[in-house]
Amino acid sequence: MTAQRPVIELRGIGRSFGEGDLAVPVLKDVGLTIYPGEFVAIMGPSGSGKSTLMNILGCLDQASAGQYWFDGQDVSSLDRDELALLRREAFGFVFQSYNLLPGMTARENVEIPAIYAGKPLAQRRQRAEQLLTELGLGERLLHRPSQLSGGQQQRVSIARALMNGGQVIFADEPTGALDSKSSREVIRLLTQLSEQGHTVILITHDQDVANVARRQIHIADGEIVKDTGEDLARNTTPTPQARSRNGTTFSDWQEAFKSALRSLRSNLFRTALTLLGIVIGVASVITMLAIGEGAKKDVVDRISTMGSDLLLVRPGGPDQRGGRWSVTTLVPEDFKAINEIPGVLAAIPELTGGQTLRYSNRDHQAEINATSFEFPVARQWPVVEGTFFGEHDEANYAAVAVLGRTTADALFPGESPWAST
Ligand code: ADP
Ligand code: MG
Repeated sequence: MTAQRPVIELRGIGRSFGEGDLAVPVLKDVGLTIYPGEFVAIMGPSGSGKSTLMNILGCLDQASAGQYWFDGQDVSSLDRDELALLRREAFGFVFQSYNLLPGMTARENVEIPAIYAGKPLAQRRQRAEQLLTELGLGERLLHRPSQLSGGQQQRVSIARALMNGGQVIFADEPTGALDSKSSREVIRLLTQLSEQGHTVILITHDQDVANVARRQIHIADGEIVKDTGEDLARNTTPTPQARSRNGTTFSDWQEAFKSALRSLRSNLFRTALTLLGIVIGVASVITMLAIGEGAKKDVVDRISTMGSDLLLVRPGGPDQRGGRWSVTTLVPEDFKAINEIPGVLAAIPELTGGQTLRYSNRDHQAEINATSFEFPVARQWPVVEGTFFGEHDEANYAAVAVLGRTTADALFPGESPWAST
């Protein structure tokens, strides 16, 4: 048997809510060792402390007592920036309610964690498409959550959890809102991920769902009352296949962590981001981060630790449904004002909606984005052929459009749009 380092080790973990005499203990003396590649189900009745435990394991919350080592590292020694990086680089979260952004396509939703990791557009788009295709959603890249079934939405959220690697996948009641067929599908996917070397921690109160996991931990009233034990059969190094699919392995993640930390320390944008977070209001950003209920505090701090230089501001709350082309809370003056903030490279407005485009006898259902001439700078979107419209075009309401690759290929298959104009 290989002597392998646990990925997760908890000792004497306690968590109480409230102060002093009013403190209510919710977790009591929880000890737990989990090895890479294990598939663990955490079970227990509602209110027993499962989500509280998951929030601590996922570094969304900190224990009131005890110690937690992740991959040999004492988590209490990490500052807030480092915790944010750990979550971003090593963890993937899947929730019962999917937590997808309603106004974005499946592909855009999956790309979000990579935006915060500062990955270039082409790279993150390609990976998002690959993940969605592997999860059977290759035909639905541009669908919005409302156009997808519950099971499909949950698969999008699994793809999002894998976007930055997802060595440890935390799934809190992922089948709670699904019919039995979709539930089986989601559980099958989680099983596959564990076979590929991901550590999967599944929270459920459903015995049938839990039976699929190789190890089961029962929790009652904040204490572990039964643990079927470490699954040492799974205690193997990830297969080469897992390596290529994850992109990173455990030794690699520490490398990624170090390099991300370096860039974070030199990231002058943090101040501007914190400011923006305060100015704009952060409700929509929280959803983007795909962090669960318990973690909505410290949001502004968290935005400042993303190490990202791209911030999307969307009108309205995540549950608000606007019609197509409707913007109710943002006006052109807003983006001009944001452009004035020192340190902002470019702020651009974007208004999107769908339209049918026709060229010759070909129809194409396209997504149209009305934006400003600084779009290529702000979105890191270089033009392949021709030029993007300029400030002058914008001021004169010039009738010009820039075609994306998908639309160009659909309307002008096998030829350059230039040849047809
Ligand atoms: P489960 O996920 O097993 O249903 P939770 O971990 O969500 O249970 O909650 C366990 C207990 O802790 C519940 O009694 C809940 O009310 C309490 N609790 C959870 N989070 C908080 C909080 N932030 N403040 C106060 N009490 C909390
Ligand atoms: Mg819960």
